Amino acid sequence: MNVVRPFKSLSDLSEAGLLQGRDKAELEKVSARYAIAVTPTIAGLIDPTDPVDPIALQFVPDTAELHVTPEERADPIGDHAHSPVEGIVHRYPDRVLLKAVHVCPVYCRFCFRREMVGPQGLGTLDAAAMTAAFDYIRSHDEIWEVILTGGDPLVLSPRRLADIMGELASISHVKIIRFHTRVPVVDPQKIDAALIDALKRSGKTVYVALHANHPREMTDEARAACGRLVDAGIAMVSQSVLLKGVNDDPAVLASLMRAFVETRVKPYYLHHPDLAPGTSHFRLTIEEGQKIVAALRGRISGLCQPTYILDIPGGYGKAAIGAQPIRHMEDGCYIVSDFQGREHTYPPT
Ligand code: SF4
Repeated sequence: MNVVRPFKSLSDLSEAGLLQGRDKAELEKVSARYAIAVTPTIAGLIDPTDPVDPIALQFVPDTAELHVTPEERADPIGDHAHSPVEGIVHRYPDRVLLKAVHVCPVYCRFCFRREMVGPQGLGTLDAAAMTAAFDYIRSHDEIWEVILTGGDPLVLSPRRLADIMGELASISHVKIIRFHTRVPVVDPQKIDAALIDALKRSGKTVYVALHANHPREMTDEARAACGRLVDAGIAMVSQSVLLKGVNDDPAVLASLMRAFVETRVKPYYLHHPDLAPGTSHFRLTIEEGQKIVAALRGRISGLCQPTYILDIPGGYGKAAIGAQPIRHMEDGCYIVSDFQGREHTYPPT
């Protein structure tokens, strides 16, 4: 496919043959409500003849998004409840989110912040708001880690990123700066020397959390982009969302987690999908998720195991929800299950 620019509208996607067999009139209603963007790299990974292509499911709009269930909510993980100043979310004592930008290179159809990101979303913080955000971080010396998320912070120019890192460099209690991004996968050429220099500008420890959900996203170009970051001394972890039809299969997840480890990206979080509006077609039950995650035990190396996580609706933070392989008995013993489901007794100590 010879494409050179992102697809940002239904007509762009239609011209590229990515809306075959879809109800375009109904899709107009989706497009009126939620942002659309597909990079050329991602478009090139989609098989337009496959109606259940796992890459298309993540990025090409679907009429199922018009179905909103009663339990879904605009702010599923409760960012607003913990936002003391614009752009800052301070949910846990020792870390904050800094949401400098609400733009992404792609718009994921299951996004937990889909009501906040995109051209009609919360936009980019202006200079005064950025100053207020830095003042907040500076005045709270319990903040050890700043997590740039959004939106995707790596859509910012190297100059803007260098400015942010320069500000954070001047705050001595901030030791760790983490970026949550899809850029190494969806626009790998953007991970160049200028961007890497900007990320290293603070002199602090930098982590990049890579968001990818299917092993086909981990192309040679994506792996090379991650390699450039890691070679520059930037640590990488992964985050994925467990999505029906995309990766709700132990073999697919095993392949994805191995691809991360092969690329020097440590598997970190596997998120249960959030209650974002119009995303019920992506959600499985927690019991189904636990079975899939349990099947990874023994199948893949300990290095490859992610932590299965639920963001508790309402802003109460994260809970690890992988099935516990241990039970505490009344006589004080523990019953521990091995990776084949066999039970063993462990004595009280
Ligand atoms: S890149 Fe992240 S913030 Fe942006 S649409 Fe996807 S999930 Fe949402």
